[in-house]
Amino acid sequence: MAEGLRNWAGNITYAAKELQRPHSLDALRSLIARSTHARVLGSGHSFNLIADPGPEGTLLSLTALPPSVEVDTAARTVRVAGGVRYAELARTVHAHGLALPNMASLPHISVAGSVATGTHGSGNANGSLASPVREVELVLADGSVLAIGRDDARFDGAVTSLGALGVVTALTLDLEPDFEVAQHVFGRLPLAGLDFETVSASAYSVSLFTDWRRSGFVQAWVKRRTDVPWDGFPWAEPAAEAMHPVPGMPSVNCTQQFGVPGPWHERLPHFRPEFTPSSGAELQSEYLLPRAYAVDALHAVDAIRGTVAPVLQICEVRTVAADSQWLSPAYGRDTVAFHFTWVEDTAAVLPVVRRLEEALAPFDARPHWGKVFTAQASDLRERYPRMGDFAALVAELDPTGTFRNDFVGSVLGS
Ligand SMILES: Cc1cc2nc3c(=O)[nH]c(=O)nc-3n(C[C@H](O)[C@H](O)[C@H](O)COP(=O)(O)OP(=O)(O)OC[C@H]3O[C@@H](n4cnc5c(N)ncnc54)[C@H](O)[C@@H]3O)c2cc1C
Repeated sequence: MAEGLRNWAGNITYAAKELQRPHSLDALRSLIARSTHARVLGSGHSFNLIADPGPEGTLLSLTALPPSVEVDTAARTVRVAGGVRYAELARTVHAHGLALPNMASLPHISVAGSVATGTHGSGNANGSLASPVREVELVLADGSVLAIGRDDARFDGAVTSLGALGVVTALTLDLEPDFEVAQHVFGRLPLAGLDFETVSASAYSVSLFTDWRRSGFVQAWVKRRTDVPWDGFPWAEPAAEAMHPVPGMPSVNCTQQFGVPGPWHERLPHFRPEFTPSSGAELQSEYLLPRAYAVDALHAVDAIRGTVAPVLQICEVRTVAADSQWLSPAYGRDTVAFHFTWVEDTAAVLPVVRRLEEALAPFDARPHWGKVFTAQASDLRERYPRMGDFAALVAELDPTGTFRNDFVGSVLGS
């Protein structure tokens, strides 16, 4: 691509021949109908080539389309346009006295791009961000428009879809009554004797952080709903000062701590929308495995921490409730997610990613679709029992292969 368009992290340069920003739905539809290869670029926060249509293809940005967020307070739903980010969605939903059940660590990401990759926050009872979606509206390769709702047999393949079915122009999500959250940060938590089930169930959302320089965790971020009784977090001492999960980064970038209650969307993400999230100079990987394996899998990573720690900025351990999206990394199983924020050095990180994948393979770990991983189609097929159904859905909705790129081809093994 002439101007060398890159992703947020800067580790990927899209090969697309052009970037197009249609100003209307009709312009988008005719653009797609004329394209042989196209993909949508959301907010570009993925760390791999998932969004790249390849050198013959068109990259589509939806940022010039109306950024509509239509709340139906009676039905408790919101219809959000395909280019909108969580920060804007959350502000509007909150202004109507309603809430999303959960958010990722940052509000900077687009809603459509996030649900396409199975993006998630934390909480034993909280599904991925795709869970509240009740309808997806798509522009297909021939320019036609298709809405797929929960009563459609294809729905479970259509939300966490890797962007492989068409352009998502709108999503309708279920909402809940507004709620407040208080966030507390705690210090060291040993791995020895960890009762992961009890710790992860101790609040609405729990995240444990470790740099793997020694065993155990260096911080625990605990987000509790103020309308639910809370028994505290007796396993670690409260932090004495405001914290950032990544060592050396300023805590001002992070959401309010010290248990000060506030609106859900100002506490559920770790990072504030007006600042750079995470460290900014990084790569990321994440592996999602059955929650019942959490302690054994943590010990497996602990056993190779001498390999992991030198290229690691921080590792975050979260939980995600099972869902029914065929390609969701939390499909069919209550999940624990091991996230790794690496240093910004692909050559140094990739061998460690491979070693980590070997260590986590016995736990049936599924990689996050938007992050760095090396697993091949054959591994993925074993880990996704509905992969064949997804391939059939891709063939049905995109028979010309307009939205099929190398990434999707490598996932489907074709
Ligand atoms: C700092 C940072 C923190 C992160 N924290 C988390 C976290 O807490 N939890 C987590 O699970 N992940 C996290 N991620 C990963 C991130 O959520 C995913 O990569 C997500 O997909 C990013 O959304 P995006 O809009 O930037 O998607 P992009 O990278 O732009 O696109 C992702 C995919 O979605 C497709 N797509 C996007 N929009 C559309 C559309 N309208 N129609 C059709 N297809 C579309 C693209 O073609 C592509 O296939 C983090 C990433 C970063 C950089």
